[in-house]
Amino acid sequence: MEARRVILILTCLFCEIVGGRIAARLVFEDEVSLASRSSSRFSALPVDSKEHYETLADLPENLIEPFFKNAQLLSRAVESATAADGTSSR
Ligand SMILES: [Zn+2]
Repeated sequence: MEARRVILILTCLFCEIVGGRIAARLVFEDEVSLASRSSSRFSALPVDSKEHYETLADLPENLIEPFFKNAQLLSRAVESATAADGTSSR
C-alpha cells in the first residue's frame, strides 16, 4: 500500500482576507487596516493591519497612529450602532 502524504500549510487568516483568498464581510478598509465581521455567534469586529506583523510590538511606528485611529473610529461606530456601553480590545 502506498503511503499518502499530507502537506499542511499554515497561513494567517487575516492575510488570506486581505489577499481576497477568503471571503469576508468587510465593514472598513483603508490603506492601513481593515475590519471584517466575524461569522461566529459572538459579536466581534477584528481590526487588522493590511501588512502582516507577528505581534503588536512589530507594528512599525508610522502605522501606530493611523491603525489605532481606525480602531477608535470603529469602536465608536459599533457603540453608536448597537447602543453598547463600550467595546473591548480583548
Ligand atoms: Zn497575516
